[in-house]
Amino acid sequence: MSQVPLPSRGRPALRVDVAVVGGGAAGVAAALAAAECGRSVALIEGYGFLGGTATVAGVQSYCGFYTSGAEPEQVVGGMGQRVLDSLAAMGHEVAPLAQSSGNWIILLDPERLKLALDRLVQQAGIQTLLHCRVVAAEQQNGVVHTLLCSDPDGLFRVEARSVVDASGNANIAALVSPGSTRPRVQAATLTARITSVDTARSFDRNDLQAAVADYQRRTGQTLARSNGGFFVRLPWSQGYWAMMVDVDLPDCTTQALSRAEMEARAIAHDYLESLRRKVPGFASAQLEVTGPQLGIRSTRCVRSQQDVRIGDLLEARRRADGIARSGWPCELHPYPGVTEYRWIPDSGWFHVPYGALIPLDGSNLWLAGSCIGADDEAFGSVRVMGCAFATGHAAGVAAALSCGQAQRASLSAVRSTLLQQGAIL
Ligand SMILES: Cc1cc2nc3c(=O)[nH]c(=O)nc-3n(C[C@H](O)[C@H](O)[C@H](O)COP(=O)(O)OP(=O)(O)OC[C@H]3O[C@@H](n4cnc5c(N)ncnc54)[C@H](O)[C@@H]3O)c2cc1C
Repeated sequence: MSQVPLPSRGRPALRVDVAVVGGGAAGVAAALAAAECGRSVALIEGYGFLGGTATVAGVQSYCGFYTSGAEPEQVVGGMGQRVLDSLAAMGHEVAPLAQSSGNWIILLDPERLKLALDRLVQQAGIQTLLHCRVVAAEQQNGVVHTLLCSDPDGLFRVEARSVVDASGNANIAALVSPGSTRPRVQAATLTARITSVDTARSFDRNDLQAAVADYQRRTGQTLARSNGGFFVRLPWSQGYWAMMVDVDLPDCTTQALSRAEMEARAIAHDYLESLRRKVPGFASAQLEVTGPQLGIRSTRCVRSQQDVRIGDLLEARRRADGIARSGWPCELHPYPGVTEYRWIPDSGWFHVPYGALIPLDGSNLWLAGSCIGADDEAFGSVRVMGCAFATGHAAGVAAALSCGQAQRASLSAVRSTLLQQGAIL
């Protein structure tokens, strides 16, 4: 038995059936699914809004709802579709857009997304705890029964019968059992929204080369994204969403994060100056917002009962124990500035197995989104937000059905509830 060493200052514990940690795609889907199963649910999020990387790190596109290629097939439904429907009801375009890579994305307005998610969790009766971070976990005989939470008013406990780790970087699994995780480092990226651009001027990627050369000449530094970065025109504003700054992030200690955040911000400002000088239409460009925080792909991962393997992707493997589909190729960012793809045959999809949601430690703990078990290459596919909705949905159902049971819910029960809730299996 491990004990939480910190006091909770006399605040009463919040008791729920299912506690979901992390309000990103996976956590929202898990919370909605568990609530729809009739469970009381706490959704715990460190920031003051939901959306995870889409809103926390300004990643303005959902990947993975569709397969790649000329005839995209939708592979994620269920709670992910509920979010798209909620956005569409607000007048947000949710039709997929083709990329030159052959992939399809759904472009996002983070502000409308925040509101759409608020409405969904409120309608579902979920107790949403914003500005609240889980800082420790208490367990007995392998059952995680209490999460110690920190909010601006101090510390308090959430007691739950099932817990979903949807923290994006396996933060809860690492608290519960540090030995169950291993490092998996991907480059981190600071996103930016660049406004006050003359968008009537056509955007020519060749001009970015001049900006990169100007940046290197002025600063003496090499821009890791030597192609100048990834720019997407935002149809609802006079601006672009840009991913142009990559930095190393070996771990999530405050020292590493502080260095990386400051380094990335400095690069963004310097490179913006080069964009103003060299790219037609950018002379008055402004950095409207970066982040708000650095986009962290991964610094650690969890060993699960059945990790997704790159072979699953390369063979487009269908399986009887599938609880979600992934139709996004393997997209890796092993070092700053480097993006590598490995493709699913015939622009198809493959199944994520039920065991990928089940960690080796913590008998009532479930993995969701980018916390699921996957080898380093398969992770490059299953981490994207479309797939995170699907695995979060499955984790929420499994957590709800397992509440108070001696055993984890059976595969057949989970699959059948997922289908009832509109999932695409
Ligand atoms: C730079 C970058 C670009 C990307 N580009 C795309 C893209 O274009 N499209 C796409 O689909 N995917 C993209 N991805 C991948 C994708 O964003 C993530 O893999 C995905 O968001 C994972 O979803 P999630 O719900 O599992 O976790 P996240 O979105 O990471 O959400 C986790 C949430 O948990 C919260 N949290 C963490 N720890 C705690 C705690 N202890 N207590 C309380 N709350 C906590 C965090 O604040 C966060 O809100 C990108 C990722 C990065 C970093």
